[in-house]
Amino acid sequence: MPKRRKGANLSRRTTNSTVMRDIRARRSGEQIQQNNTDVRASMAQLRESLSEEARDERNQQRQLERRETRRFIVNRRRGIDQQRQQLLRAFTSDSFLRLAFQYEPDVEYYAHSKVVIGSLDKECPHCHALKFKNEPVGMCCSSGKVQLTEI
Ligand SMILES: [Zn+2]
Repeated sequence: MPKRRKGANLSRRTTNSTVMRDIRARRSGEQIQQNNTDVRASMAQLRESLSEEARDERNQQRQLERRETRRFIVNRRRGIDQQRQQLLRAFTSDSFLRLAFQYEPDVEYYAHSKVVIGSLDKECPHCHALKFKNEPVGMCCSSGKVQLTEI
């Protein structure tokens, strides 16, 4: 477990990290090469010092961790998918009740047939009133039964 940082210093900028960054920035090309060679040598030594058994054990441990991580991710994705499916089902049903409380940014609400009402381009053959496509036929003049005098 990483050391707990004191106070409100939650950024990555600690005194230690600043000092390290300055030291690294001031290195010359030769020094960088030397540092890399040193690190490579010490890693090789560390690897050699580990016995075959220890290496196998470590590899198995890593494999287990990887599997666990994968399982966690798959489960999480599955959960999200199920949630989205439920939401889509709710959205395709006619009920809009409390739908805003489950708002999902990638669902195209604007494309729902109840939201898209089209343009005002249906003309009544009797009174020539312009209507939307889902407005009933007799809504304006009761299919020609009502005739108003011109103003
Ligand atoms: Zn009409």
